Amino acid sequence: MAFEGLADRLQSTIQKIRGRGKVTEQDVKEMTREVRLALLEADVNFKVVKQLINKIKERAIGQEVMESLTPGQQVIKVVQEELTQLMGGEQSKIATAERPPTVIMMVGLQGAGKTTTTGKLANHLRKKHNRNPLLVAADVYRPAAIDQLETLGKQLSLPVFSMGTEANPVDIANEAIKKAKEEHHDYVIIDTAGRLHVDEKLMDELTQIKTDVKPAEIFLVVDAMTGQDAVNVAESFDSQLDISGVVLTKLDGDTRGGAALSIRAVTGKPIKFVGMGERTDQLEAFHPERMASRILGMGDVLSLIEKAQENVDEKQARDLEEKMRSMSFTFDDFLEQMSQVKKMGPLDDLLDMLPGAGKMKGMKNVQLDEKQLVYVEAIIQSMTRKERQEPSLINASRKKRIAKGSGRSVSEVNRLLKQFEDMKKMMKQMTNMQKGKKKRGMKF
Ligand code: GDP
Repeated sequence: MAFEGLADRLQSTIQKIRGRGKVTEQDVKEMTREVRLALLEADVNFKVVKQLINKIKERAIGQEVMESLTPGQQVIKVVQEELTQLMGGEQSKIATAERPPTVIMMVGLQGAGKTTTTGKLANHLRKKHNRNPLLVAADVYRPAAIDQLETLGKQLSLPVFSMGTEANPVDIANEAIKKAKEEHHDYVIIDTAGRLHVDEKLMDELTQIKTDVKPAEIFLVVDAMTGQDAVNVAESFDSQLDISGVVLTKLDGDTRGGAALSIRAVTGKPIKFVGMGERTDQLEAFHPERMASRILGMGDVLSLIEKAQENVDEKQARDLEEKMRSMSFTFDDFLEQMSQVKKMGPLDDLLDMLPGAGKMKGMKNVQLDEKQLVYVEAIIQSMTRKERQEPSLINASRKKRIAKGSGRSVSEVNRLLKQFEDMKKMMKQMTNMQKGKKKRGMKF
């Protein structure tokens, strides 16, 4: 994920100071020097770095740290709080107009991900806020942008308003709002035209749409991979259009993360969402505090829980637990469980949300190979129904057949069978322990 380099460096820097019972001015100076270098290397704007470092220094050498009982921890808290502030402090919500429909204008350069994000945002509003948005195809310049939005609309079963490529974008926007009122849409999301570079004609057109439709929000979509350029683009759009927020796309890529850390400080405008992939459900609300914790290796357990709640079917989870307790857990259940975990996203990203996970990933015996999951699935799928229910049936010749069917080796089949048995044994022990506790009247 993004921020990997920055996170590694910051984590090893703060690690040195974490357990200290005493922190001197010299320690703070050394730490801030390393933090400064790490931020610059991650492509954070140098003015922003300077301000941040001054704040951290001032607070870390101040009373709150020096007089605390755990100065090491306290310094880290200061760094975390200042990073959070840098990214905007509180999570910022989407505005709702007093009288519907609430109009959101999506602006940005070509290729930033504007059209994709328009679809993602509509999907988010419908799924998470129960809204009924109308999508508007007003990008008449980029070939295929209208088709792209229409395809997204079909995929999501959401209506798309378009008047083809010949119409004027300002007219399209006005007509769309009329239609939204007639058909009682509570949100209208306009995918405006982009250009390769910021130019006057584009800004004039956007300003005119803004004057006509009076949007509650103007979201600038920028590509996190473009680093400082993203910050410059944000500055120029903001100076002309007074944007209300930023959506940072492609944060799933290998970006150093500097844009995410600088945009708010440079423009004063909050990052509202981040794009974490090409799929329409890969848009996440941006939480500065959670992001700061993630960068500092403190994990983001809240997001992990939210992901689990969204993706894991609670009833299925309870059924599985019951099966495990009653020892009737089979390989079919095992497959089911794997598919639930997979719905939550790549394992690597999930691990990033656990405190201290950065260190864990560096350890040799923690294997995070997605391929392994695919292999396990293939092995289970090569078993017959009966074998999945009763693994004890699987003798040597069946093992050979399963190995052949899944394209894996017999020793891998053996390993999986053993892991499955171990897991069942462990469940049995845990259930017995709990029974024992119950008998003795203890709470657990
Ligand atoms: P537009 O010209 O700004 O409308 O850009 P598009 O919406 O067509 O997006 C350009 C490319 O970026 C497409 O290939 C998208 O699939 C891709 N894209 C958009 N958002 C993300 C994201 O958050 N992550 C990744 N990996 N790709 C994205």
